[in-house]
Amino acid sequence: MGKVDCIVIGGGVVGTLILDELAKTNLNAILLEKENDVASGASRANSGIVHAGYDCVPGTNKAKFNVEGNALMWKLVEELHVPAKQCGSIVVAPKEGLKGIQELYDKGIKNGVKVEILDREKTLKIEPNISKDIEYSLYAPEAGIVSPYKLTIAATDRAILNGAKVVLEANVNKLAYNNGEWTVWSTNGIYKAKYVINCAGAGAARINDLAGACHYETEFRRGDYFVLDSTEGKAVSTVIFPLPTEKGKGILVAPTADGNVIYGPTSVATTEGDTATTLDGFAEIKKNVALTYDKPNFRKIIRTYAGVRTIVGHDFIVEYSDVVPSFIQILGICSPGLSSAPAIAKYVIKLLEEKEEVKYKDDIVQLPKKKKLLELKDDELNALIKENEAWGRIVCRCEKITEAEIVQAIHSPLPATTVDAVKRRTRAGMGRCQGGFCGTRVIEILARETGKTISEIKKDMGESQIAISRIKED
Ligand SMILES: Cc1cc2nc3c(=O)[nH]c(=O)nc-3n(C[C@H](O)[C@H](O)[C@H](O)COP(=O)(O)OP(=O)(O)OC[C@H]3O[C@@H](n4cnc5c(N)ncnc54)[C@H](O)[C@@H]3O)c2cc1C
Repeated sequence: MGKVDCIVIGGGVVGTLILDELAKTNLNAILLEKENDVASGASRANSGIVHAGYDCVPGTNKAKFNVEGNALMWKLVEELHVPAKQCGSIVVAPKEGLKGIQELYDKGIKNGVKVEILDREKTLKIEPNISKDIEYSLYAPEAGIVSPYKLTIAATDRAILNGAKVVLEANVNKLAYNNGEWTVWSTNGIYKAKYVINCAGAGAARINDLAGACHYETEFRRGDYFVLDSTEGKAVSTVIFPLPTEKGKGILVAPTADGNVIYGPTSVATTEGDTATTLDGFAEIKKNVALTYDKPNFRKIIRTYAGVRTIVGHDFIVEYSDVVPSFIQILGICSPGLSSAPAIAKYVIKLLEEKEEVKYKDDIVQLPKKKKLLELKDDELNALIKENEAWGRIVCRCEKITEAEIVQAIHSPLPATTVDAVKRRTRAGMGRCQGGFCGTRVIEILARETGKTISEIKKDMGESQIAISRIKED
């Protein structure tokens, strides 16, 4: 491939929103992601909260990007057809927590966030199931929830429709700047560009080192979660936080944009890539949920997961390197990175505008809305089945996902090639049985549609093949 304007390293929410923004302009771009799908790092395993921005230290990048990102998010999710809801959030506290609530309120006002201190009675009107000891809350009506991986995937799909390229399984392992251009070596090709934009999340400090840019020390903190069945979805109407501590925002209770409920996350010092959940983590969640929420229902847990925060110092770094040329370094994007990503993407375009003539295209291609069985009226569904019988075959019984929706996902602009990639795009396997019934059908459909054998189909990243070989010949 010839030289492009920008190479974006890392297909998390930050890299893909930057790619989407670049694809709307005259600059051509390519994204290199080391795994077999985008949203393979922190952007797949977090709380999915679009924070309002009241708890970031005023004047920091975190405060600026969070508040701007929240404002940009709601139009973006509508354009990209991503599940999201501006359901507001409350930080709840017992009587002795009023000082903490007041401090958060003051920070919120400094950051330009709409916030209100409520007493118990008013809080109950927003969330009837707060725990008995709660006397006060800080209400932020502009906060909300979003599906983080669907946002990442949809941004990638739109970027591709607008001419951007995405190369998966491209682990960047060497960079060099010579004669005014970057050469980037990866496990899936060598690429050349005028600019490198490093958004490699947990790997960003390593990419900086490879490029000869400034060295940063990285800390990692794991957060464990419970996911509850969607039958609990109606029990929680807003995001419920405890008062934050020096470890973070604390263990929340929240609806998810796709209709489940989550309890978590913990905050435990760990090493890169450690996404194993722990019994200690579960015990901590159970203990803490009860302090804010009156109706914990641990019998409805259908899944656990963990995500790892990447922390570099106290603030987000989003700037040109002052050591190597034409290298934009984006590091330490821990929380509220998801909320901030739309604003970080716009800011990166501003950085490029300092050196390049950037023009937005007039003819941006929008992502078509995918049809879903659960959103179709009977006559629409019948018409679709007449055209294509796959609309009549339900593969995932828990979430009511048809074969046609799975085939759509496999043939998306960024094709789903693994069972979990299909799951993230369609929700097949996200229901109560967690793929117990549909998992093998999804493997068969993937093999049929991609021309692979069943034993080549992976569950997720790495060597995660499910079927090893046939035990019977046809
Ligand atoms: C437990 C937890 C809860 C959170 N909750 C929230 C929340 O509710 N709201 C919020 O706003 N934020 C939240 N966050 C923060 C948010 O998830 C992150 O800020 C955001 O996902 C970071 O996105 P990213 O694109 O920078 O990184 P990532 O999503 O990690 O993406 C980086 C990508 O780079 C790739 N990569 C790495 N090295 C290389 C290489 N050498 N070559 C090619 N590719 C490479 C990785 O595979 C990965 O896909 C939470 C984070 C965690 C962990």
